Amino acid sequence: MPDDVVTMDKIVSLCKRRGIIFPASEIYGGIANTYDYGHYGVLLKRNVVDAWWQAMIGDRDDIVALDSAIIQHPRTWEASGHLAGFTDPLVDCRTCGQRFRADHLDAEHDVRCPRKPSVLPGQGPDCNLTEAREFNLMFETTIGPVQEAGSTVYLRPETAQGIFLDFKTVLGFARRKPPFGIAQVGKSFRNEITPGNFIFRTLEFEQMEMEYFVPPDDAHRWYLHWLEARMDWYERLGIRGDHLRLRAHEQDELSHYSSATSDVEYLYPIGWQELEGIANRGNFDLTQHAQHSGEKLEYFDQQSGERYVPHVIEPAAGVGRATLALLCDAYDEDQIGGEARTVLKLHPQMAPVKVAVLPLVRKDGQPELAHEVRNLLRRRMQTEYDEGGSIGRRYRRQDEIGTPWCVTIDHQSLEDRTVTVRDRDSLSQDRVAVDELPAFLEARLAAPWESPKLAV
Ligand code: ATP
Repeated sequence: MPDDVVTMDKIVSLCKRRGIIFPASEIYGGIANTYDYGHYGVLLKRNVVDAWWQAMIGDRDDIVALDSAIIQHPRTWEASGHLAGFTDPLVDCRTCGQRFRADHLDAEHDVRCPRKPSVLPGQGPDCNLTEAREFNLMFETTIGPVQEAGSTVYLRPETAQGIFLDFKTVLGFARRKPPFGIAQVGKSFRNEITPGNFIFRTLEFEQMEMEYFVPPDDAHRWYLHWLEARMDWYERLGIRGDHLRLRAHEQDELSHYSSATSDVEYLYPIGWQELEGIANRGNFDLTQHAQHSGEKLEYFDQQSGERYVPHVIEPAAGVGRATLALLCDAYDEDQIGGEARTVLKLHPQMAPVKVAVLPLVRKDGQPELAHEVRNLLRRRMQTEYDEGGSIGRRYRRQDEIGTPWCVTIDHQSLEDRTVTVRDRDSLSQDRVAVDELPAFLEARLAAPWESPKLAV
């Protein structure tokens, strides 16, 4: 792994220490592959989702938003192919009782025998693996008070199908025609048994998916358009370009309905892995749902008199994986005045807190002026007030969560109503009049930004 890739242990420990992201159900000993987001984690994740909505419906006119149900009619998953084919091959060990993915029993996936961690499962002296069995990743539940009498339904394993089910309805009210898209953000659920790698692979996760419906002949052109647009988006979040790549799927990796798929990959601590998949799904989904439901899912172009089933380009991203990529890309350790600091060099627009307001001392009218400054800023950007501990410790606390600016109120502030603005990355200190502070910070927030880690 290159030196500029942080270890997962460091990310996990920072996230836990600062309550950004931590194991769920901890008082009961935790539950595999399930995490909770604390205050700063929620803010960071919300910034990712907001940036995605901005790119989908703020910056463009050809996409509309949708929020479809998590539990859909069970025939949805018959039509989509998930019921029959959304499976992983699993093996059980009769000795230790653990379950493993048969396709992950190699050094690359680093899955270890629980009894003898120096070897892969199946290679220990006592290992006794079963044959591989296909295991469906969808979570099942029952509608109705009595399990036996109720009907089996599934928690959605992707948000996309809800979009296809609503295609006709949306077409009816959205006053759009192909090319146009329907975008959705929401939770999906997969019964993943592979050990987690923190939030990279979890049982429940948020997806940001957009189905872009196009005339069949234009599908490839739009596929290329979305490859570029999505790579650009990650760079705009401040992720270093040399830690991002597009990887086209080989022919034998493609789903049966996809004519082309590429993954946006990030160089995580566990190597190059998928952040987002961008697929040319053809007309598979609409055709399947039309057949299973008996509804016509097509577009009639009144101008040309042409009737067709649109083809679909799908950029499908994970909020957790984007959040993890941001954390990994921003994590840094450096020295200030001989003291080590941990700092998240996040793009200011992604930082959970934009500005911390810190009175130098807790007396002489400084806290009062600091509250006034905090109130001046809080409606414009996420602001935090902190008066606890030495100023150095307070700076370190903000550095660790990636706050780009700390505003310090000192003795001089009370005389001339100026404050100092300390920059997280350059450590520069600017003296700014309180009245000019909102405009000063808003300009800094809007300014072009590039990771300072690139300069090293
Ligand atoms: P993988 O091959 O890593 O299992 P996938 O190809 O099955 O992922 P898709 O079905 O294309 O994933 O889902 C789109 C996106 O949703 C992925 O790129 C990823 O960001 C996110 N995602 C999928 N499964 C999970 C999971 N179990 N935990 C967190 N995010 C996930």
